[in-house]
Order: sequence, then C-alpha cells, then structure tokens
Amino acid sequence: MAKSSVAVPEVGVPAAQASCPCPGTTLFPYPPPRGAGIAAAVVRRKCGLQVELGAGAAGLLGGACWGVESMRASSPTHAKAAAALAAGAVDEERAAWMVRHPSALGKFEQIVAASEGKRIVMFLDYDGTLSPIVDDPDAAFMSETMRMAVRSVAKHFPTAIVSGRCRDKVFEFVKLAELYYAGSHGMDIKGPAKASSRHAKAKAKGVVFQPASEFLPMIEEVHERLVETTRCIPGAKVENNKFCVSVHFRCVHEKMWGELSESVKAVLREYPKLRLTQGRMVLEVRPTIKWDKGKALEFLLDSLGFADCSNVLPVYIGDDRTDEDAFKVLRRRGQGQGVGILVSKHPKETTASYSLQEPAEVMEFLLRLVEWKRLYRARLRLQ
Ligand SMILES: [Mg+2]
Repeated sequence: MAKSSVAVPEVGVPAAQASCPCPGTTLFPYPPPRGAGIAAAVVRRKCGLQVELGAGAAGLLGGACWGVESMRASSPTHAKAAAALAAGAVDEERAAWMVRHPSALGKFEQIVAASEGKRIVMFLDYDGTLSPIVDDPDAAFMSETMRMAVRSVAKHFPTAIVSGRCRDKVFEFVKLAELYYAGSHGMDIKGPAKASSRHAKAKAKGVVFQPASEFLPMIEEVHERLVETTRCIPGAKVENNKFCVSVHFRCVHEKMWGELSESVKAVLREYPKLRLTQGRMVLEVRPTIKWDKGKALEFLLDSLGFADCSNVLPVYIGDDRTDEDAFKVLRRRGQGQGVGILVSKHPKETTASYSLQEPAEVMEFLLRLVEWKRLYRARLRLQ
C-alpha cells in the first residue's frame, strides 16, 4: 500500500511551500518523523482546521493534555459558549466572521449566478447538516420535511450524501434511493439504487468504490477493542462505521475526556496503520490511506463525467472538521468553480466560503435552490 500522509509541521519551511492554509504546515509521509510530535501540536492548535494524529505521534505527544485541549477546541460545551456570551465577545467575533463567511441565504443570488452555464452537483453531510446533533447518535433522525427537500433537490441536481457514518446506516436515516452515498468519510461510495431523476443516465449510477476494503478485519478488531476499553467510561459510545470507528464523547463528562482520549490512543498504538482524527464531540479512527471527503467529492465528480470540467458547480454543505477536506478541494478549484458552505452557529476556522447556522437554514437553502431551478426552467420554456 502506498504511504499515506498526515499534516505535520516542517520547522523553518517558508509559508509559500505549505499545503495547509496555515503557515508552517506541510505534508509529511506517515508515520511522522521522530520528534515531530510536539511541534505538530503547536501548529495544529494555531491551525484549528484538521487535527490528525497517527498512533505513533500520539505516543510522542505523551499524555492527555494535548488530547483534552484539542477535544475542547473542537467540541465547545454549552458552559463555554455561555461564558463567551457573558464576556460580550461573541457578537463582535461573529460579525467579523460573517464578513469572511457570509450567509449562503443572504448571498443566494450570487451563488446561483455562479452556476450560469454550469451543472450544479450537490454534496450534503448528514449529522448536523440534515439532522440535528443529538446525544444518542442512533437517534439522529432527519425530519420528513427535510427528506422532502432533499428529494426535491435530487430531482433537479445529482445529489450525494457524504458522511462519516457507515453507508448503510446513513441510508437508513435518509431513505432516498435516488441519491449517491459516500459513507465512512468517503471510503464507501455507491451510486443510486433507483433511477428516477433527470441525471439517471449518469455514469456513476452503478458505481461502488471501497478504497479501504483491506482494512475491514482490522477495523472490526479495533472496534471490539475500543468497546471493551471504553466500557468503564460513562457515556462513551463506540460506533462501527465499517471502514472507520467513531468514539462519541457527547455524553461523557468533560472531566473524563482525558481518560477517554488516553484509552483510545493506547489501543491505537498497536495499530500503526490506523490514525486518529477528531470531529465534533467524536474521536474518529480511520485507515491511514490518503482518502477523505474531499477525495470522495472528486471521485464522484469524475464518475459523473465532470473530471476537469469547468461546466460544473459542486456545492458542498457540512458542519464538521472532516468536511474541511471537501471545502479545500472546492477552494483549490478556483473562483466560481465550487461553493463550500459551513453549517455553524459559532465562528470556526474554515475553508468554506459561506455559512448557514443550522439544519433549518440548510433546508431553506435547498428549497430556494429548487424554486430557483423551477423558475429558471419556466423562463427557458417561454423563450
Ligand atoms: Mg456533520
């Protein structure tokens, strides 16, 4: 297997050479070289975009301190948000952030104007984007009105759900056979089972792609190990997502986050071919292959026949750190060649161009897109 890469800093490298938007970060082969660990923590804290930690590097960092700080940064608690509000810092910070990442609803006309002469392709994260974040990950149901909005969007545009969840699980939630699904952070891709839309002839219809299939037995084993090792931590929930494992800590008391982080790292030290990443209230264990939601986006565009095309406008909506890989791909495509929309009520470091506050706003954006397309087609018929 080809060596994969994680983001670690190269001390003294000029910012112009860095592939991460943050100065001082570049791509190194995995596992990282000896001694890189401590500096990596410093840069990642400054970066805030993507926390990636190979099991080997976890050992170098040596302790719960980095893990807990990082967990707090990516998973702010209500108490922390309330403290910031009381300090009066929120409004000012948010206003400045909104200038950099304006509402996709407020800039709707600008977004659809960019699609002139292009085919829109929709990419939607699931948790926190189409469904609310809830304490029990098994109960993250989407509303029927959201399902209808997604179904309407898919009638007009090729639409994919891109999630960290197991593909079967996310399909159980969404229940729309006409969509493309990319589960396990894009490591499990399948085209629509049902051909009911205008793009039914798309090449991706029958596609199945699983670039991490050789890791299946290892993921099974690690899942069992993590269930066992976190059993004594109240509230911890381990989810087998087929090609990755999620350790949810939404219901774990913050005082126990350090112990949880250490337990997970201790298991991963025995699996150097797996890496630890972090999302919103979740630790993610994934194969070290260089594949993520951004790669899945590119793969699906390619499968749909849009490789290296300028007549396509991918629109990606997501709320998590793992969605940043897709936002980066869209940013690299250049001005007017892709739209990244972060779902967040709070200012966050992001490569997305626009923002929406919550799933309700995502639904409003989807419905406006459907209505715009309907009127656009009606105008064309009158000409
Ligand atoms: Mg999400």
